[in-house]
Amino acid sequence: MQISVIGAGYMGTTHAACMSQIGHRVLGVDVDAEKAARLQAGDLPFFEPGLQKLVRDNIASGRLRFSASHEEAADFADVHFLTVGTPQDKDRPAADLSFVNAAVDALAPHLTRPTVIAGKSTVPVGTAHRLAQRVQTTAPVGDGVELAWNPEFLREGLAVNDTLHPHRVVVGVENRESRAAEVMRELYSPILDDNVPFIVTNLATAELVKVSANAFLGMKISFINAMAEVCEATSADVTMLADAIGCDERIGRKFLNAGLGFGGGCLPKDIRAFIARTDELGVGDALAFLREIDAVNMRQRRRIVEMTHEMIGSLVGARVTILGAAFKPNSDDIRDSPALDVAEQVQLSGAKVTVYDPKAMDNARKKCPTLNYALTSLDACRGADAVLVLTEWDEFANLRPHELAAATRSKNIIDARNCLDPATWRTAGWVYRGFGRL
Ligand code: NAD
Repeated sequence: MQISVIGAGYMGTTHAACMSQIGHRVLGVDVDAEKAARLQAGDLPFFEPGLQKLVRDNIASGRLRFSASHEEAADFADVHFLTVGTPQDKDRPAADLSFVNAAVDALAPHLTRPTVIAGKSTVPVGTAHRLAQRVQTTAPVGDGVELAWNPEFLREGLAVNDTLHPHRVVVGVENRESRAAEVMRELYSPILDDNVPFIVTNLATAELVKVSANAFLGMKISFINAMAEVCEATSADVTMLADAIGCDERIGRKFLNAGLGFGGGCLPKDIRAFIARTDELGVGDALAFLREIDAVNMRQRRRIVEMTHEMIGSLVGARVTILGAAFKPNSDDIRDSPALDVAEQVQLSGAKVTVYDPKAMDNARKKCPTLNYALTSLDACRGADAVLVLTEWDEFANLRPHELAAATRSKNIIDARNCLDPATWRTAGWVYRGFGRL
């Protein structure tokens, strides 16, 4: 099939490359002409394991190309995926839908033949229905444009595999007669072969599947972080607790790692946008607990700063090393990164902060130019009074306590991701603190 993917960011570029990989001819479109040109040259503007090669291979095969023209997309494709950003609004904790609206408005006037627009961005429930009306009144082909919602569940760091081997494909359509569902089934058929559930529903359910999945994941993380606080107050160990409750199939062990909490370009803003939307719908009380999920999550960041205080006393003039800047390992994404948030808070408390991250240094430097940066973990640790591990990169989990001790001024380590072995560090003479761990 000939498809366009509108919005070539983390999600859109991955989707475009994977759709061409399974045999479709794909045009990726981004309003940022420089970004589109870089991608067309095979240069990925961000880090995602395996994606650079996939983009290059598929450009070379002739199935994938990038452009900045919505008109070209309308001319080329019969299915248009919408993958533009839906960040948190600048003025309130709700979704900013201006990019989605702008993308639809740029495409619609050029739609002259029957077309499917499949939204993948994460949006508040009700958006797809509104967009359908918007596009059908402005497109020359009118209701020949069918709108579907096809939420995306990929995880950065695992994005290529998640796209090629999804846990499920969800497609929301306007009505049962819509041919959009069949078009989407055909489009995804190469990856539906191995019994991937293909769930067709209405637009509102499809939109809600995504935000409720994110809310549930956030709930698991904040639950275990709240338990970590109880563990600390009672000499219990949250890791063993998570292992034990995770044995129960109804609970499961995944997303029960206590630590600095969630960040990134999705979970925090999606949970806030969900709260805002349920308030608008008059059902905010039913989801009041979402506010607490957000509050517990943000408290983790302050707790790390307090822990650093407790460990080394006043932070004024202290040297603190921050290992990690990306919001999660195997990514260079620093959007709402807990690690950088903590780095800035520690700096504001008077410390000299030096940051190292295996992939996110350029992005971190741009966002937080007043922090110091080092080129290796060892360099970052020189003269440190405390080392804070804030992103669970393998490189940090494999650090050798004796090597690090030769660089630091004091042997203080805070393992904000519970990714180190406490016994190894304590045996090497370090003062070790994790979250809710003995
Ligand atoms: P992103 O900011 O990396 O990418 C968005 C891209 O859209 C940018 O390159 C931007 O230039 C482009 N854009 C903006 N307006 C445009 C327009 N009118 N026409 C064409 N391009 C335009 O964002 P992202 O992380 O890829 O997220 C995109 C959406 O997908 C969001 O709704 C997000 O919540 C959702 N999502 C993201 C992930 C993820 O892991 N990143 C996972 C699931 C869902």
